[in-house]
Amino acid sequence: MEDRELLNVVDVEATCWDGQPPPGAVSEIIEIGLTVVDLHAGERVDRHSILVRPARSTVSAFCTELTGLTQEEVDTGVGFAEACRLLAAEHGAGTRPWASWGDYDRHQFTRQCQATGVPYPFGRRHTNVKAVFTEAYELRKRPGMARALEVAGLPLEGRHHRGEDDAWNIAALTLHLVSLDPRHAHRLTAPSA
Ligand code: AMP
Ligand code: MG
Repeated sequence: MEDRELLNVVDVEATCWDGQPPPGAVSEIIEIGLTVVDLHAGERVDRHSILVRPARSTVSAFCTELTGLTQEEVDTGVGFAEACRLLAAEHGAGTRPWASWGDYDRHQFTRQCQATGVPYPFGRRHTNVKAVFTEAYELRKRPGMARALEVAGLPLEGRHHRGEDDAWNIAALTLHLVSLDPRHAHRLTAPSA
């Protein structure tokens, strides 16, 4: 019997502006935060940050303020195609179920893969943890990650809007949901419709 049940929790940061992008620029992934959760053990077992060099945009002062990431830092990163290759080759992206807070991260990957012709690295089993959290707590409005941590009584560890730390905190929220109701573990690993 498989004694580890792994889930990839992913949070991306992307180039952004206070308003619309400058002419010719598009929002592109600059960091992929990834925390590996063992649902069986109820633990976060690994954390990663993949820095990604944008090709059609640069990191604005606004974006640095939000994420803490600078252009110099992301210049040391890999290209988007290599980042997707690493997700599949080293992090089981194609075979493990994955999860994120909301649908933004999944849509950003879909969009950017389509725009660049890079193969989409993930499989079909994706869970929007924000939707599950909202249902579990019967909230009227879907909360941001920071608010959800408050509701759950969990600490916000590290820096909000850094992909690596956001993924780590979303993983804690995910495990919290499983501890409230073990049936959530099935929902996280079941094939999506
Ligand atoms: P988050 O995971 O909440 O850090 O957000 C992911 C990405 O969404 C960021 O890297 C930005 O590209 C974008 N984003 C989040 N919040 C804002 C904001 N207040 N203004 C502009 N873009 C944002
Ligand atoms: Mg984030």
